[in-house]
Amino acid sequence: MDIRKTVSMMTLEEKAAMLSGKDMWHLKGVERLGVPSVMVTDGPHGLRKQAGSGDHLGLNDSVTAICYPTAASLASTFDRGLVNEVGKALGDECQAEDVAVILGPGVNIKRSPLCGRNFEYFSEDPYAAGEMAVAHISGVQSKNVGTSLKHYCANNQETRRMSTDTIVDERTLREIYLTAFEAAVKRAKPWTVMGSYNRINGVFGCENDFTLNKILRDEWGFDGYIMTDWGALNDKILSHKNGLDLQMPGGNPSFDKKLVDAVKNGELDEKVLDTACERIIEKTMKFVENKVETPFEYEKHHALARRVEADAMVLLKNSGVLPLTAGKKVALIGKFAETPVFQGGGSSHINCYRITSPLEAFKDYDGEVVYAQGYITEEDKMDEKLLGEAVDAARGADIAVIIAGMPEGFESEGFDRKHLYMPSCQNELISAVAAANPNTVVVLQNSSAVMMPWLDSVSAVIGAYLGGEAVGGAIYDVITGMVNPSGKLAETFPLKLEDNPSYLYFPGFNNRVEYREGIFVGYRYYDKKGMQVMFPFGHGLSYTTFEYSDINVEKAEMTDTETLKVTARITNTGKVKGKETAFLFVGHPTYTVERPVRELKGFEKVELEPGESKTVSFTLDKRSFAYYDVNAGDWLVEDKDYTIEIGASSRDLRLKACVHIKPAKPVFPKVNYNTTLGELMTNPAAAEVISAMLKGFLGGMPSDGADNNALGMNMFEMMKDTPLRAMVSFSGGAFSEEMAFGLIEKINSGN
Ligand code: BGC
Repeated sequence: MDIRKTVSMMTLEEKAAMLSGKDMWHLKGVERLGVPSVMVTDGPHGLRKQAGSGDHLGLNDSVTAICYPTAASLASTFDRGLVNEVGKALGDECQAEDVAVILGPGVNIKRSPLCGRNFEYFSEDPYAAGEMAVAHISGVQSKNVGTSLKHYCANNQETRRMSTDTIVDERTLREIYLTAFEAAVKRAKPWTVMGSYNRINGVFGCENDFTLNKILRDEWGFDGYIMTDWGALNDKILSHKNGLDLQMPGGNPSFDKKLVDAVKNGELDEKVLDTACERIIEKTMKFVENKVETPFEYEKHHALARRVEADAMVLLKNSGVLPLTAGKKVALIGKFAETPVFQGGGSSHINCYRITSPLEAFKDYDGEVVYAQGYITEEDKMDEKLLGEAVDAARGADIAVIIAGMPEGFESEGFDRKHLYMPSCQNELISAVAAANPNTVVVLQNSSAVMMPWLDSVSAVIGAYLGGEAVGGAIYDVITGMVNPSGKLAETFPLKLEDNPSYLYFPGFNNRVEYREGIFVGYRYYDKKGMQVMFPFGHGLSYTTFEYSDINVEKAEMTDTETLKVTARITNTGKVKGKETAFLFVGHPTYTVERPVRELKGFEKVELEPGESKTVSFTLDKRSFAYYDVNAGDWLVEDKDYTIEIGASSRDLRLKACVHIKPAKPVFPKVNYNTTLGELMTNPAAAEVISAMLKGFLGGMPSDGADNNALGMNMFEMMKDTPLRAMVSFSGGAFSEEMAFGLIEKINSGN
């Protein structure tokens, strides 16, 4: 279709109408010009296609679909290939259900473990979240179905999610909250981006010229269409002026009329409507013109959900009780063994094809299994009878496996958690069972960190996250060792909520949330402060062991326009086959600009037979070393040494090397009358003048012959924070105001 021509044939009314949905889930078409109406549907870990009456809160029923592991689980796999496979499967299901765009993935950063939607998000780390998003989007879109990257942006809590104002400085926004969006947009090219409900520094996400036009379109080159989150529109005209293309849901013609009037009275240029229509039609036709019959087998996709979740499960602790061998007597305890929790509440809630519970999966176990309910899901208070039965079952068994976690509804879109504790009855049950049986294993169903007051008294803990409809099978596979666990945490589990960097500022008040912890989110904060944590970022055990060796950094020194190849060897030193994720962190032993101790810049997962070695390879580029400089409005690299650490987690670093990076084109910040001498000295154009001036100035002072004067002060150290202005006063006329401004002019003009 010649899209420009089509749009040129549309009436103003038709164009305005196209910029809002037809109803809850459909876009409007222009039948007479061959543009059909297409459907968009939630996402992101399965299809929530509402064939009947629609809602955006997961209230009404939707068609039967596969519920894959949620984003929190997917991220724990650290396996781009697997996440891509899930994306492809989702793409096939969309094709089969005639869905043009699946709403997701969500790449918002897990700023606080309390966020109700953490299960829908990948990580506390922007690099990890970006990699997962790229894999997911590429998978879906390879099937000619679109994705909607959400929620753009700085939308990291549910409390007052529709109105709160996120106050975040630009460096933090760029380095932490936008990086995953940027990676996804540049590398995976999502068809659509969903503007978030909240304000960003005072301006709503769907009418924000800075985030929509300047960053998303101009800097990153986004060429799809921007839609609102459901009900996120605040000011129709302002939104379209500032970059919005599509308002969702639709069905209220008064908005379309507003647009028509705005064009007629000269408030809005009709070209704005033309461009938005072109973008929407382009993606619509991409779906329509590439539509294929895609029959898929539910059972195969269910098996994929099981395989992925087995690789996502994080073995948090194991004192040797796992894997479970055949012929044992197992006490399987906890209501969640019967009715597992595997997805969160809200718009992503899937009407599942088939749920495999742990109890059902354990029917395959070659040994005796007794089940005890243990607790009542909805209650906090212990039921003494159930407790007694569970303890008796545990006492009479070789091993007790407790399935515990957050009851459905505890973790949901729309509200945040208030604390990190599981219901008291579950914590009490775990302690009592552990006292009755030393071989107690706890399997957690959670969306983010939870407190584990019983951690020391149990033998093993598995974090299953919200693992999709096949979670029971995956738990069985990992416990019995059919699958060697290889999931790792994509977030830190703190010792207590109060340790979390956002604690003092979450969820804010007066409709404002200030991200005062800045760039120090997750492990960036815990490492900077050298704090103990319950489980660090990247933690996850295996039934085998891995040795790291032979780190090789291609060059010792390079400029920031080059790339750097880093390799290392991983060897399986244990007795069973296993998979290992090796993390690469770039560190900052010295810095002028405040930096985290280390930042994730690469990860690679390998599968190894016992005794086998493989080389993992990483490619680093400018962004691996850069920080965002607000004054320069660009990513800059400091001229200095950087460490490269490779390890099994952020706190289990096995290999270290060093590289010196020089900026190919050093950028010097603009200077002014109050720039300090120290800052001026970093600029070669000023260094000579300043050092001569300092020599002259210090020359008049009594000195011990070294850098120190008679007062025992290192004079340069003392003077480096002195502004240029003060030198005019101190120099007794030798350095005049005119000379100072002359120098400023010379530096700023680059002469
Ligand atoms: C959610 C979105 C979702 C939309 C449609 C909103 O409430 O924030 O993530 O895609 O509803 O259901």
